This record gives sequence, C-alpha cells and structure tokens, in this order.
Amino acid sequence: MAGQAQDNLAFYDESFDVYNERRLTLMAELDKAISHDGLDLHFQPQLDLKRNRIIGVETLVRWKHPEYGFIPPDEFVTLAERTGIITPLTRWVIRNTLKAHSELTAGGFPLQFSINISAVNLKEPDFAQQVAFMLEEFGVRPQDIMLELTETAMMDNPIRASEELFRLKKIGVLLSIDDFGTGYSSLSYIKKLPIDEIKIDKSLVFDLTSSTDDQVIVKTTLEMAQNLGYRVVAEGVENQEMLDILIDLDCDLIQGYFLARPMPLPALLDWLSERGL
Ligand code: C2E
Ligand code: CA
Ligand code: CA
Ligand code: CA
Repeated sequence: MAGQAQDNLAFYDESFDVYNERRLTLMAELDKAISHDGLDLHFQPQLDLKRNRIIGVETLVRWKHPEYGFIPPDEFVTLAERTGIITPLTRWVIRNTLKAHSELTAGGFPLQFSINISAVNLKEPDFAQQVAFMLEEFGVRPQDIMLELTETAMMDNPIRASEELFRLKKIGVLLSIDDFGTGYSSLSYIKKLPIDEIKIDKSLVFDLTSSTDDQVIVKTTLEMAQNLGYRVVAEGVENQEMLDILIDLDCDLIQGYFLARPMPLPALLDWLSERGL
C-alpha cells in the first residue's frame, strides 16, 4: 500500500504539465474562493455506538467552481499542499468550523468537531499557536476539537510532525489518526505520539462483509488500538451489515452514508433536531 501511494505521487508529478493550465486556474481561483468565502463546509455525523448518541461531526470542505463545477477535495487539497495554499485553506476551514460549532452549541447541540489537517500544516512554524488563537477568538473549548491527520503524510518528517503534535496536545485539542490501515500504519510509531483516536479507513470497513480475513484484520486492529487506550472510529459504514459487524467487534464510533451523508449546517441542524440527538 505504501508503494502504491508513492506511485500515485510519482504519476501525479509526471502528469503535472499536462494539467498545468487547469492547475494554475484552479489554484488562482482557490485563493480567491478562500478570501471571498467561495468554499462551503459539509458536516458528517458520528454515532457513539455504546451510548447510541451523535457525539460529533467531521468537517469536509466543498468547492463548487463556477466553470468546472464541483471539484473533489482530494484534488484541490493535494494541489493546495503543493503550492502552499494549504495554509490559508486550513485556516479557513478551522475558522468556519469554529463558527459552526458556536452555532450548533447555541442551537442546543454541543458536538465535537473533527477537522482534517494536512501534514504540511504541521511544518508551519506557529501552527499550534494559530489554533490556540482561533479557539480563543471563537470561545471554543479545545477538547471540542479533534484534528485528523494521516500517518503516511507525517512520515515525511516524523520528528517535526511529532513536535507539533505535542504542542497541539498541550493546547488541549484532541488528535486522531485518519485512514488507519492504509499505508504503513504502525501502532508502534503512533504509540509515541499524543493520539486520542484511531480512524479505521473505509477500504477496510468495505471489506468487512465480504472477507473473514479482513474481519480478522479489523478485529485485531480494534483490539490493539483499544488496549492502547485509543477511541476507535470506523468510517465508510454504508449498510446495516457493516454496522452489525462493527457493533459485534465492539467499535466505539461509526461514520458513513448509512448513518448520514455529509451535509451543510442548516441540514445538519434539522437532522439533529429530528433525531433528538
Ligand atoms: P477523509 O478525511 O478520509 O474523509 C472521508 C471521505 O469519505 C469523505 O470524502 C466523505 O464524504 C467520504 N465518505 C463518508 N462516508 C462514506 C461512506 O459511507 N461511503 C463512501 N464511499 N464514502 C464516504 P470527501 O468529502 O470527498 O473527502 C475526501 C478527502 O479529501 C478526505 O478524506 C480528506 O482527505 C480530504 N479533505 C476533505 N475535506 C478536507 C479539509 O477540510 N481539509 C483537508 N486537509 N482535507 C480535506
Ligand atoms: Ca478525515
Ligand atoms: Ca479517512
Ligand atoms: Ca483520506
């Protein structure tokens, strides 16, 4: 899997020229979209299986380009990481997530918000400090914010990444390892970091219903992670069968289309009201 991810990057570099024009247009316009609030945030609920309660949401950024239409976040986040635009992009996402958090809290739904952070952000000299300032500005408690990072991305500069994670931990925000089970996930590296949560990648969750081997992998991952004291989330739960297996395996939280798709804030408020939390 690690090799595959690297191959993808290599392929991406080679084809960079081919898409140069689209790439340049997109980056120039992403910059504008950030400064003129041309992006949107969608929120996907997370269900705590043990308490049968919605306890959090993951923030997912959306960009509808006037000419190209909907651009998948995977595409423009990758571009933004390569051009440095990820710094203002992440800042925009955090600020607007904190705003949404305040609105939901005012609406009677004090949820935890998970935000995707790029490993590139961890190399910014003052990232943790910036996060602290924003929390203060919006009056949000640090423990209401979970930052999601992929381990593969941190491997680029594990020492620098680890230092910044400890700074973030000191501020009091929670930290999650995203896409666990892809790449060279290793609990022995994660164990050295101040991590609160492990998110099992949807590719593993998809395989739950078809292969007993994959069930063993998820079961073992869950047991190890929980024994080490991490909360475990399964993402990409698309049907009842997957949910039943995850309940059986004693998973802590689930997220996926079966529960709810990512949605804008007003829809989320309606959804939460109908459900009664
Ligand atoms: P991710 O962090 O792993 O996010 C989960 C992706 O799975 C999201 O795709 C979500 O819409 C999708 N998903 C949720 N439930 C299901 C399900 O049941 N089945 C299937 N097939 N998919 C499901 P999305 O929104 O297209 O985001 C793709 C990736 O883009 C994210 O993967 C994340 O790596 C990145 N991304 C999205 N928003 C942000 C952001 O604000 N900042 C950063 N840095 N990256 C972001
Ligand atoms: Ca994520
Ligand atoms: Ca993920
Ligand atoms: Ca991902």
